[in-house]
Amino acid sequence: MSDEPPASLAAVPEVADPLAPDVARVLGHARQVYLDALPIPAAVVTIDPAGPYIESANDAFRNVAEFDERLGDRRVSKVRLLSTGPIGRRLAEYLESGEPAHQFESSDGRSIGGRHFLIRFARVRPLEYGPVRFVISLIDRTAQVETERSLRSEMLLDSLTGLPNRLAFTEQVDRVLSDPSLADGSYAVLAVDMERFSRVNECVGAIAGDELLIAFARRLVSALRPTDMLARTSGDEFGILMKLDRGLADALRAAERIKAVLTLPFRLTDLEIRIDCAIGCALVGRGVSSADELLRNAQFALKRSKRVGAAQVYEPVQAQAVRRRFSMETELRRAIEAEALELAFQPLIDLQTGKVSSFEALARWRQDPIGPISPAEFIPVAEESGLIVPLGRWALESALRTLADWDRANGSPLPFGMSVNLSPIQIGRDNIAQVVFAALAGSGISGNRLTLELTESAIVQDPDRASSVLTGLKKLDVKVAMDDFGTGFTSIGSLQRLPIDVLKIDRSFVGNMCEDEDATSIVRAILSLASSLGIETTAEGIERAELGDALAEMGCTYGQGYHYARPMPADEALAYWRETNG
Ligand code: C2E
Ligand code: CA
Ligand code: CA
Repeated sequence: MSDEPPASLAAVPEVADPLAPDVARVLGHARQVYLDALPIPAAVVTIDPAGPYIESANDAFRNVAEFDERLGDRRVSKVRLLSTGPIGRRLAEYLESGEPAHQFESSDGRSIGGRHFLIRFARVRPLEYGPVRFVISLIDRTAQVETERSLRSEMLLDSLTGLPNRLAFTEQVDRVLSDPSLADGSYAVLAVDMERFSRVNECVGAIAGDELLIAFARRLVSALRPTDMLARTSGDEFGILMKLDRGLADALRAAERIKAVLTLPFRLTDLEIRIDCAIGCALVGRGVSSADELLRNAQFALKRSKRVGAAQVYEPVQAQAVRRRFSMETELRRAIEAEALELAFQPLIDLQTGKVSSFEALARWRQDPIGPISPAEFIPVAEESGLIVPLGRWALESALRTLADWDRANGSPLPFGMSVNLSPIQIGRDNIAQVVFAALAGSGISGNRLTLELTESAIVQDPDRASSVLTGLKKLDVKVAMDDFGTGFTSIGSLQRLPIDVLKIDRSFVGNMCEDEDATSIVRAILSLASSLGIETTAEGIERAELGDALAEMGCTYGQGYHYARPMPADEALAYWRETNG
């Protein structure tokens, strides 16, 4: 049947029923016969000045709609099924609309005694000049809907614990995420993992293991609010979806309650066992677009929770890194002001004589309670924030002061020097020659005992400035070493042009010399380049005796590395010199 109205239906204005009463009766009877022959509830509605009313209905309709025309009132407004709920609303709209037909399912079972119907309204004009009538028919789909529903709920339930499973969980989370008015941080997903479950399961057997899972799930339920959704998302992992009224605090409080309900041991058939859990939490927010992603974030935090032993909240990696940098910068500024940094000293050995030729001063930052932070981590932060300027000055001054202290303890100047690192940023921002002059004057150390180590990038970034700084240093009789040589892009031309005294061959080449022939060739090439330019060489990262011997044989001037000594506090460094050279 087509839903398009016949042309006549649209074009002809409605008029009052023009039929003689006996013809109307005959037609009414025919209408009733047709309706009665239908296997489904059906009725015909007509509109008169008092509103729509039911002109005819079959028994099936009378039953479903609890309609009885013998009571005298046929108005649609008196039939609950047609005047209330979603069906009532749709019918009123439809009667106004002029649409030929409208069909929908009513899933609001309550309005028809828990039944589910496919409902169809159709507009007809059986007689060319007669009034429009509306046919209402209902098809009962309750049985199909219920089968579907129970199949679905089986698909969505974890059969062991009776909790929703992962599919049900992610569907629910997706429903929450699809709400356009959802505010950032208004919901959280918690991932809860039973600690050491697989080991316990192996020991006690699968049946007791199942028993434990069920008991664990019950404890979780007892820690949650009725509105929280708990699901078993995988073997020994549970997911919780919770609405946050007071933000993150709510989620953390839930985590505390979960920890609390796990303090008592679990009593299984014939043993008692304590089970702890790890908890990871992720909040809905910008950038999180799916349940899977949210759950993954919570699981990421869960992993950290396992390491740390406390509930953890997921933070995007970027935010984490920025936060860490930012807080490190603040802490570092404080440490520099409070002179809380220290220097460690690592000897550079003259490979021909085996004697200490100098010590390299390396910054150390011990931050309680985290422990020492590597300069490889805090020097870049210092460079980015400009803190390298005060840090560098401090390192220079305190290295020279230490050397002066050692001289004094020795009674006369010691036969070795001091090497201090200089960052490219310092070269750009600080007045190096003046700072060095002041530090030498302040400590009374002569310029020829100081070596400044700078990396190739210092020269590549601003060759003119580097050149003038180096010339200034030469005037103070200070030596210059090029650090980490081989990793940057210094041109051989600049090596020749600039007053460089030492090349420090990067430890990535030195360390690989035994296994990697290319590394050996590179070291050999650097050594011969340096010797032809009249520059001394230091090999970094010598960790084994045979490397030192090989490098000595190849003509390398100095060696530095764990084989000789690790960086040490000042007093140990002086003691090291006394033992090996004294
Ligand atoms: P660097 O100047 O190349 O310093 C040598 C690094 O190699 C030191 O690491 C040292 O502990 C390490 N090392 C020495 N011998 C061996 C070895 O045999 N094997 C291995 N694997 N490593 C060895 P550290 O102290 O962690 O310093 C790292 C970097 O931080 C330094 O590299 C330097 O670039 C920077 N740095 C440290 N202190 C300062 C400072 O006061 N100022 C500036 N600007 N940079 C500094
Ligand atoms: Ca260095
Ligand atoms: Ca180096």
